[in-house]
Amino acid sequence: MLDLIIEGGLLVDGSGAPRRRADVGLRAGLVAELGDLRLRSARERFDARGQIVAPGFIDVHTHDDHLLLQGVEGVHHPKLSQGVTTVVTGNCGISLAPLVSAQLPPAPLDLLGREGWRHERFADYLGALESAGPATNAACLVGHTTLRVRHMAQLDRPATAGEARAMAQDLEEALRSGALGLSTGFYYPPARAATVDEVLIAGAPLRAAGGLLAMHIRDEGAAIDEALREALSLGQALGVDTVLSHHKLVGRDNHGRSVQTLGMIEAAARHQGVCLDCYPYTASSTMLLAARVSQSDEVLITWSQADPTAAGQSLFTLARQRGCTPEALAEALSPAGAIYFAMSEEDVSRILAHPLTLIGSDGLPHDASPHPRLWGSFPRVLGHYARDRRLFSLETAVHKMTGLSARRFGLQGRGLLVPGHAADLVVFDALTVGDRATFAEPARVSHGIRAVFVNGRLACLGGRTQDRHAGQVLRRGPVADRHLRAEAARAS
Ligand SMILES: [Zn+2]
Repeated sequence: MLDLIIEGGLLVDGSGAPRRRADVGLRAGLVAELGDLRLRSARERFDARGQIVAPGFIDVHTHDDHLLLQGVEGVHHPKLSQGVTTVVTGNCGISLAPLVSAQLPPAPLDLLGREGWRHERFADYLGALESAGPATNAACLVGHTTLRVRHMAQLDRPATAGEARAMAQDLEEALRSGALGLSTGFYYPPARAATVDEVLIAGAPLRAAGGLLAMHIRDEGAAIDEALREALSLGQALGVDTVLSHHKLVGRDNHGRSVQTLGMIEAAARHQGVCLDCYPYTASSTMLLAARVSQSDEVLITWSQADPTAAGQSLFTLARQRGCTPEALAEALSPAGAIYFAMSEEDVSRILAHPLTLIGSDGLPHDASPHPRLWGSFPRVLGHYARDRRLFSLETAVHKMTGLSARRFGLQGRGLLVPGHAADLVVFDALTVGDRATFAEPARVSHGIRAVFVNGRLACLGGRTQDRHAGQVLRRGPVADRHLRAEAARAS
């Protein structure tokens, strides 16, 4: 007896293979059978006629560290409502753990929210996640900037060898407890003084553990070539798989350079493990930085501690009204967040379409007026880019959100719709799927995502949350196995 049969749908299995007609039988949270299951008995049946049935989407680039612990109130969930069943946290060098701090740590750590800095060890954070029961599955990176804040009183210099070794110890503990790897954010003020040598020491435990390195590189504008070379050489020197986060070209003078940057990445991929992620918009979002203002055609404030009423407004318009320069206003509003319109559609399309590119939202769930990527990224790729613009096939779009992502991030038993894999599934309408979130109304729920199952449980139906605790903590396979064996050895 099966628990559930999803019947009559067209299967897009996440491998990139063409869709095919098949029913999906679930048992005990796993995909049990595929094929013609009309005569099989099941406790429940779900009618998916006319719909696509695919593996649940994997958002490889999130800042959901604290959101997963807090939960999302209300009937809509920003990730479940898009068909996302797994998120990767701890990107851009910033993770909620391991760090205990009574005060708010420096930006950009505040992008993770204003509280929750109470996990002395990474294992404590993973344990808290497990107790809370997250809405989606969670695979977690450790942030190098978080480790800097933890071990260094002054952040405007490289770490001493001793400080870098202390970071390495934390990373080793985190990897042992199941962290996926390390992220860095050299772009941001608290990690700008960090050197390759520092991360070679701090990141040394990655190699033996098979962890990966995800990097928000030092520069995405004029100096992007050097920044890419630095990141690629770091990954190669550490001997680990490397993810280049939210690849983009910022500032008019740099538009079109993705031809060269993708060429550099392809050349590197011939001798090292490297992939990239991308969100489907020409505007970015992060902390408000005066230096970013002149590169942008428009800047929208997403939140401001100094002046909460500025959220949702144009920095340029506000500066005119207040009779100051946009840069001076940016300083006055900080700490704050912003959306920057500074990319070209041509670069975004070229990067999205590249075979090494995965989809990651980079959504910022704690912003008062967030970038719409938080609510719309995955349906936007399926609707706008795959169906309407025909940038790639629906099968390729799904592959970039599922099978390819799971393979690159080492998420075993996820990302493909095959027997034995976890029953993370999304049922959607290929004709209507699309994003509705806009810069003016960023929290609008997407179209066409009919049902979302997380570990076999119906988590979202018609955009409305049904089960907010169906997710699991995905601890990295081989290490978790070793960990369990060690536990067993201790117990016996
Ligand atoms: Zn980033």
